[in-house]
Amino acid sequence: MIEYKSEKEIELIRESSLLVAKTLGQVAKVIRPGIKTIELDALAEEFIRDQGAVPGFKGYQGFTGSLCISPNDQVVHGIPGDRELKDGDIVSIDCGVLKNGFYGDSAYTFAIGEIDSATRRLLHVTYECLHLGIEKAVEGNTLGDISFAIQSHAEKAGYGVVRELVGHGLGRNLHEPPEVPNFGRKGKGMKLRSGLVIAIEPMINLGKRFIVQENDGWTIRTSDLKPSAHYEHTIAVGKESADILSSFSYIIESLKSNNNNVLIIN
Ligand code: MG
Ligand code: MG
Repeated sequence: MIEYKSEKEIELIRESSLLVAKTLGQVAKVIRPGIKTIELDALAEEFIRDQGAVPGFKGYQGFTGSLCISPNDQVVHGIPGDRELKDGDIVSIDCGVLKNGFYGDSAYTFAIGEIDSATRRLLHVTYECLHLGIEKAVEGNTLGDISFAIQSHAEKAGYGVVRELVGHGLGRNLHEPPEVPNFGRKGKGMKLRSGLVIAIEPMINLGKRFIVQENDGWTIRTSDLKPSAHYEHTIAVGKESADILSSFSYIIESLKSNNNNVLIIN
């Protein structure tokens, strides 16, 4: 059953989502070639706990990290560890927090140093997919309108759209109904109305859409080993336009003074 949120509940989800945004902003300050993904995870966990919140992913179905860190061919759910990021990598970093009983959830794909032009285009198009989806998150539209906007933009660019993993409702739980697929048909699916809070998160592959799960039981990667990009915002459906509850502005500010990163969006 879908739980529509009151205005007060949406403000609490905004608070959690902004803490996610600030956490990713902290990560963006220090991300560079040579840093281990576990170091980014430790920094994020400390920052989240310092703000009186709890990392949303840590312990979730046994996940060990506070962040999901997924470089290159990894799509999502990468486990932080001893892997060092290197020049030319892209890396999806996904963060969730629980504060005041409500979750926030957002992800951003960083470019470490200089990345090749094909991968750069993948990041641009995936970011555009996220915003095209968000534009459709308006009362009177359907879930399928969001899905179709994302899928059609990605496929026009020649990319594979991951089917097995989807966006989701969230609130008192990290994952709630409805599922928000990144593929679908215009006008299909449930009608959107105010009070619906969802995470929209296109996962777009440079090559084919197919994925496999690694033996660690978590990491999802592309089956053709080509790169995959992932951006995610938590949003509330609005009457005129969607209300984006998370934010990339902290990331962008941090990246402006981080010389080890390519600023992909602004
Ligand atoms: Mg996420
Ligand atoms: Mg999510």
